[in-house]
Amino acid sequence: MMTLNSLILETPVQYVKGIGPKRAALLARAGVRTVEDLLHYYPRRYLDRSRVVPIRSLAAGDQVTVVGTVLSREVRRGRRNRLIVSVGDGTGILQCVWFQGISYLSDVFNNGETVAFSGKVTVYRGPQMVHPEYDRLSEADENNPLNTGGIIPLYPSTEGLRRVGLDSRGFRRILGAVLTGVEGNIHEILPKRIIERCRLVSIGQALSQIHFPNDEDSLQAAQRRLKFDELFFLQLVLAHQKMSRSQEQGIAFDQPKPLTRRFLSGLSFHLTGSQQRVIDEIEADMAAPRRMNRLLQGDVGSGKTVVAMAALLGAIDHGYQAALMAPTEILAEQHYMTLREWADDLGVRIALLKGGQKSGERQTVLEDLSRGTVQLIIGTHALVQEKVIFFCLGVVVIDEQHRFGVLQRAKLRLKGWKPDVLVMTATPIPRTLALTLYGDLDVSVLDEMPSGRIPVRTYWRTHDRREKVYAFLHEEVLKGRQAYVIFPLVEESEKLDLAAATEGYQALTVHFPDLRIALLHGRMKSEEKEETMKAFKAGLVQVLVSTTVVEVGVDVPNATIMVIEHAERFGLTQLHQLRGRVGRGTHAASCILLSYGRLTDDAVRRLDTMEKNHDGLRIAEIDLEIRGPGELSGTRQHGDLGLRIANLITDGKLLELARREAFDLTNSDPKLRRQEHVKTREALMKRSKHQYGLLQVG
Ligand code: ADP
Ligand code: MG
Repeated sequence: MMTLNSLILETPVQYVKGIGPKRAALLARAGVRTVEDLLHYYPRRYLDRSRVVPIRSLAAGDQVTVVGTVLSREVRRGRRNRLIVSVGDGTGILQCVWFQGISYLSDVFNNGETVAFSGKVTVYRGPQMVHPEYDRLSEADENNPLNTGGIIPLYPSTEGLRRVGLDSRGFRRILGAVLTGVEGNIHEILPKRIIERCRLVSIGQALSQIHFPNDEDSLQAAQRRLKFDELFFLQLVLAHQKMSRSQEQGIAFDQPKPLTRRFLSGLSFHLTGSQQRVIDEIEADMAAPRRMNRLLQGDVGSGKTVVAMAALLGAIDHGYQAALMAPTEILAEQHYMTLREWADDLGVRIALLKGGQKSGERQTVLEDLSRGTVQLIIGTHALVQEKVIFFCLGVVVIDEQHRFGVLQRAKLRLKGWKPDVLVMTATPIPRTLALTLYGDLDVSVLDEMPSGRIPVRTYWRTHDRREKVYAFLHEEVLKGRQAYVIFPLVEESEKLDLAAATEGYQALTVHFPDLRIALLHGRMKSEEKEETMKAFKAGLVQVLVSTTVVEVGVDVPNATIMVIEHAERFGLTQLHQLRGRVGRGTHAASCILLSYGRLTDDAVRRLDTMEKNHDGLRIAEIDLEIRGPGELSGTRQHGDLGLRIANLITDGKLLELARREAFDLTNSDPKLRRQEHVKTREALMKRSKHQYGLLQVG
């Protein structure tokens, strides 16, 4: 087998000493193809020999790492077979126990070898760990010249990799060889200026110290550098997108706007300060001969619809058409009802386009759109279909933006000649995350609620209090208020959920024969849904039993009670959105979260958070803490952001630093043509090809 002593970053791993074709194939599955990939295969954690706990001082419940010698291995047969590995460290004996993977694991360890075990200590005739993580150490590790500090890297590994010897020990050996072989061939990719200003260690040092740190400090310096790189290149992509977009031509809506003026001065309320500011920002964008690409962030109830209408009218005032796209039919219908009142007053011709329409009706709408007789169209994603042709589309507003795929957004934009785009989201996103996910958009924030709102009182109750909760609902409804009763809708069990909502509805009608109760769910026909929503809005229906279809956008100010059944099954942002449906008028409102059965820690935390918090941004932050950023709605569609070591929440400061540097660099040398930026450009090309593909659209 050919192996190379001198390596460059592009060398395929199979030519690295100790790898070969078989291991290379398995590594490829883990995404590791080249020497460079290997260098970026970071340890999952580190074992600090100076912090290892002696077996003698273990106590039940401790989460620790023990290093010891394997004394014996034994499979005990019984009701449940188990493998017991006894480990000694000179101060005592620890038993490690496995119930699964016995046959494989009993071959893994050899008597007399040194192994690190990590896990939670339980006590059963002495200290024991069940299914601990393990890492085989070796003489070599302790004498490794690269590893002087006693901090041992532990690598992510799969069973497949372990079978070919690529456990942590195997990776240490290989990375030791790679680092030696590649020495002198790792070139700096960041401009010197940035390295100095941001106090970063060199890339070469970072890559060697991330694998074999001399001490805690140099490990941290290495991590900081590598995190910076991930964040910096991501921001560089965004900076480039933003720059190319800002140079894109667009329509200049810069003439007087009689309709917009009449609309704003005719409102029954005064705009909040932040509504006024955001409307000004949007007007300025639309007046410029460039394309608007703006994100409007505003908590539920902050009054985004008025802002949207002002943006739509801005184009209509200039003889262009305007479109509003909503994520669900119900929401599209809602918007249609609200906007139609305004449009009728102004003499603006408005239409609705959605999936379940009669074909004749639909045909008329399509014709009117293409002839330009419809000025304002409200719709679902039906708007992006091929058959939909605009006469001259000038502005697009997309509500609840995170529900649409990036591609759908792009498609709608292509329906006109460079229409302005405003995307609206009620999901508050912590600043650090917004900077990344929407780093290429301009951001406007509605950070003020219309005055006179009373915060919704929120109560979390267990199901044994259900009767009382419903009695309270009854009382409030008799006082003239309206109520929502929400049932969860989880896609996997849609039928069951629907059954639960239907049953709940029937039980309520039996229980409260004096109330007018209606059921609303996604499987109903469009007309039925519309009827029901209309009746609720008009106050004819007093209690609306619904699956989560009302999650976004429904606006009925007289509704002041919300009961959420099985609240433990909802996510935090979802609960917050739902709660935002009440407390929109001048009456005090309540939201009651009913939970069933034993709850997970996370569920307890969510419900507790809802009781204590009203601020959407705070709630979103807690949500991120609980779930991690990958889970956040909106993140998935962006695919892998290429972050392995950086964390968008905990590394917020570093992210902002990286962003500043990336945007500065883009301003000073947009195409990275200068000599001192050549390596940076190459690194950017490499990364954006692999990781940021999706970010290019949208
Ligand atoms: P969201 O941001 O959740 O979409 P909406 O636009 O639906 O919020 O507005 C919520 C409610 O507040 C609506 O009934 C709307 O008419 C009302 N509203 C909007 N702006 C104001 C304001 N400045 N003063 C009083 N009420 C307002
Ligand atoms: Mg809304």
